[in-house]
Amino acid sequence: MDTIVALSTAPGRSAIGVIRISGPRTTEIVKTLVGDQELTLKPGQVVVRNLQPDGEAVALDQAVLSYFAAPHSYTGEAVVEISCHGSPVILRQVIDYVLVFGGRLAEPGEFTLRALGNGKLNLSQAIAVRDLIAARSDAAAKQAVRQLKGELSQRMHETQERLIQAIVILESALEFVEDDLPEVEKEKLHDSLLEIAGNLAGLAQTFGVGHLLRDGLRVTIAGRPNVGKSSLFNALVRSNRAIVTDIPGTTRDSLTESISINGFPVTLTDTAGLRESSDQIERLGVGRTHQAIADADLVLLIVDGSLPAEDRNLEPDSNGTRRLLVRNKMDLPSFRSENTERKSFEKVIDVSAMTGAGLDELRAAIISSFGDCHAADSGLLITDARQHDLLRRAADEVTSSAEILQQGHSEELIVLGLHNALRLIGDITGETTTEDILSEIFSTFCIGK
Ligand code: GDP
Repeated sequence: MDTIVALSTAPGRSAIGVIRISGPRTTEIVKTLVGDQELTLKPGQVVVRNLQPDGEAVALDQAVLSYFAAPHSYTGEAVVEISCHGSPVILRQVIDYVLVFGGRLAEPGEFTLRALGNGKLNLSQAIAVRDLIAARSDAAAKQAVRQLKGELSQRMHETQERLIQAIVILESALEFVEDDLPEVEKEKLHDSLLEIAGNLAGLAQTFGVGHLLRDGLRVTIAGRPNVGKSSLFNALVRSNRAIVTDIPGTTRDSLTESISINGFPVTLTDTAGLRESSDQIERLGVGRTHQAIADADLVLLIVDGSLPAEDRNLEPDSNGTRRLLVRNKMDLPSFRSENTERKSFEKVIDVSAMTGAGLDELRAAIISSFGDCHAADSGLLITDARQHDLLRRAADEVTSSAEILQQGHSEELIVLGLHNALRLIGDITGETTTEDILSEIFSTFCIGK
């Protein structure tokens, strides 16, 4: 087994940067790195040392070394974390030395892959680690922590137990041909299989909301100039700012911010006004607007509710993208909420970007157009597409086994479907996952985790 090394903190300049080393040669490499073969590292103890390999006239840095002896570490191997000063130059030098002394750069997710191999966590927990790091909202982070604590794998183990019980009953009926399964038993088994299938399908269904928690929702604000798009954008961003990022590619005519609405990560884009224009720059802006509409999961079409209906102009058509109609400026006396515009919209919401009236309703409507907006803080949610697919297929297998049982076919056929379901569930916890699928999954991790 190689000894691997990577920067575990974010690249760039920071107060401290942590380099992690894991593998059989860890302590030997660290001793060479500090230029002291007598160094004794005790688990659970941190020491401050100069990093000064033999031949270096001055130390590279003064660092804190934390040692975790195998198997009591994240990976289950000997691990040392070196907390250096967070200069990219120093961090690169230290890593280069570790490579010279026999380490190898870690692949993405390789520390976690080793933890999996050493039984420190299972596959669904490993995926939770990745999702926790990537979480863009409080609710997404909470879900990842639930899965990290093993909630999903616990449920999967319970389901496996129940499936095995059913298989045992069926197998013993097969073994003793004369002992045909009594009718009562058959009925009980049928009910139990349907319940298992229902639980699996129910969990699979949570992906509808769960994937939004992880991937977020792209919401685009569109409408004619001066209807109050920017005011609404600011009102929503100011009160809901989560992690603000500069998204590259946006120009002064399309503004994008990451906010959090009811715990869901939302990427909100404010677009240039939609109108025919001879001005070339403005035309470019309008082009971008159409792009932002095409990319969106949901379009908020804003109209000025204080204008007569015929002046509101409901363009553009968003080619099948979901649309909410937002009638702004409800604080104005001339505001009219006529119902004529309802037809092609999921909902019509009246707001005032200026006073903030109706914004709570708008937020709720944005989320509820995709699912139960309170689901984020209730039960366990499936956030991973692969897990969703496996759960759905397992549910189908168990359902068809129940049908075959009902139709009175041979136990052999029924058992086949249950074994398939067991294998699919084993793929969620990683018990039956092949090496190449594992490496594909782990390639989506960050380096250093
Ligand atoms: P945009 O061109 O669609 O982005 O519109 P702006 O956000 O720049 O707003 C155009 C004008 O409408 C500005 O003078 C705003 O102050 C005003 N405005 C925006 N929202 C409201 C509102 O809810 N009520 C009132 N009374 N005025 C508003």
